[in-house]
Amino acid sequence: MMQSCYFCKGKVVQQPTSVDFWWGDDLKIIEHVPAGVCTQCGEKYFEAPVYTQMERLAKGASEAVRQFTVDVVRYSAA
Ligand SMILES: [Zn+2]
Repeated sequence: MMQSCYFCKGKVVQQPTSVDFWWGDDLKIIEHVPAGVCTQCGEKYFEAPVYTQMERLAKGASEAVRQFTVDVVRYSAA
């Protein structure tokens, strides 16, 4: 596991995190994913098996623990 961030060289700590995972047009948010998180820029690092398991969860029909709606906003220049 990474000890320092690939991008900013910040310190990477192990902590469970929420991941927004797109599968095609489907967005799933997966909670409590074991990850390394950069304390400086927030970049997340996952072990390969964890990533594989997230894919499986996103593709599969695993029961949602809860749902919420998300606002989609179109970019427009100020
Ligand atoms: Zn970083």
